[in-house]
Amino acid sequence: MIKVPPRIAESHVRAGVRQLCAAFDDSYWRALDAEHAYPKEFVEALTRAGYLSVLIPREYGGGGLDLAAGCAVMEEVNRSGGNGGACHAQMYTMGTLLRHGSAEQKRRYLPRIASGELRLQAFGVTEPDAGTDTTSLRTTAVRHGGHYIVNGNKIWISRVEHSDLMLLLARTTPLPDVRKRGDGLSVFIVDLHEAVGHGLTVRPIRTMLNHSTTELFFENVRVPAENLIGIEGQGFRYILDGMNAERILIAAECVGDGRWFIARAVARAKQREVFSRPIGANQGVQFPIARAYANVEAADLMRIRATELFDRGEPCGVQANTAKLLAAEASWEAANACMQTFGGCGFAAEYDIERKFRETRLYQVAPISTNLILTYLAEHALGLPRSY
Ligand SMILES: Cc1cc2nc3c(=O)[nH]c(=O)nc-3n(C[C@H](O)[C@H](O)[C@H](O)COP(=O)(O)OP(=O)(O)OC[C@H]3O[C@@H](n4cnc5c(N)ncnc54)[C@H](O)[C@@H]3O)c2cc1C
Repeated sequence: MIKVPPRIAESHVRAGVRQLCAAFDDSYWRALDAEHAYPKEFVEALTRAGYLSVLIPREYGGGGLDLAAGCAVMEEVNRSGGNGGACHAQMYTMGTLLRHGSAEQKRRYLPRIASGELRLQAFGVTEPDAGTDTTSLRTTAVRHGGHYIVNGNKIWISRVEHSDLMLLLARTTPLPDVRKRGDGLSVFIVDLHEAVGHGLTVRPIRTMLNHSTTELFFENVRVPAENLIGIEGQGFRYILDGMNAERILIAAECVGDGRWFIARAVARAKQREVFSRPIGANQGVQFPIARAYANVEAADLMRIRATELFDRGEPCGVQANTAKLLAAEASWEAANACMQTFGGCGFAAEYDIERKFRETRLYQVAPISTNLILTYLAEHALGLPRSY
């Protein structure tokens, strides 16, 4: 087999995704946004073309590429005006299965995820009383013979209605009985077709953006014991293990958004004439766009640095978190610069600025809030005391 150098693979993937996204233009995403509908055709096309399985090893039918290629996919989706939030979770949830799943679990699920037969798009961690403070989560999974019985409540669990499988984090040992708060949590693969209607109730939550997210209620949901990933009680570590990839992929989406906003702002600044000349001839219009451009490019350099370390298997927590922080801030800055450049038209749905503006705001809060990244950097990069 010819070994494709990573750089070539990345640019090849980038060009392919760009071409695929061209068939899903502004009007496609705008119509879905108005209806709060899932981009079914887009996710199917991306899956069929193999782009959502670039990180799955070839032996399981995936692309066998590195994280740089995954970032190229997510950046290009957002850069095209789309929203990677509809399908990005598969890239990072799959890593938990790949790194910690048994040989049998990998054989059972990965080839079917790679082929698109199964979707692993749902990731159940957050709870109403345990958002940022994950180890306080109260959903329990208690072993009874060949099953775990799950009870509890999750919130903001996205894409459940459009996924076949969900990774679930639940407490298997009560908090008072563990030495460290992160102990006693376990990860399960939940077959959503088996669970929904058999103890699992899904309540959609309407949000300010088109993001299919839900609240989940578990009442004696039976999960086969063979669906436990890795060792019981070690699940929190497995989830933390996947965080760097998640941060880096999200940073790539933010960079994609930032570049989209800047391209739109520049085009508008050149074309729109006020006082008989293009508004882009004014420094007051140019400078915010130029500043946002500089910050998006800088964030992308940090994203590239984090990706390189990740792909070499080196520690990259500080770089991955820094990349996510800078990229989320840069995309938000670019969104504001673009909104201002469009003036009143920025508020009209037909220009798509307000839609992307709402979408890119989410990255300040989810999947990890900016403050929590700052706490990580204060502790791990600067050696300051843990503040929470
Ligand atoms: C649209 C959407 C989709 C989501 N999808 C998923 C999903 O698929 N799966 C999933 O598990 N979760 C999901 N989430 C949840 C998301 O990860 C959480 O919203 C996020 O982690 C913040 O948790 P919280 O909302 O409970 O905020 P809280 O924990 O209540 O925090 C509120 C604010 O206080 C700040 N804060 C809290 N503690 C500290 C501290 N010690 N120091 C400084 N600041 C602090 C936070 O930074 C935040 O800004 C989603 C959320 C949204 C809105």
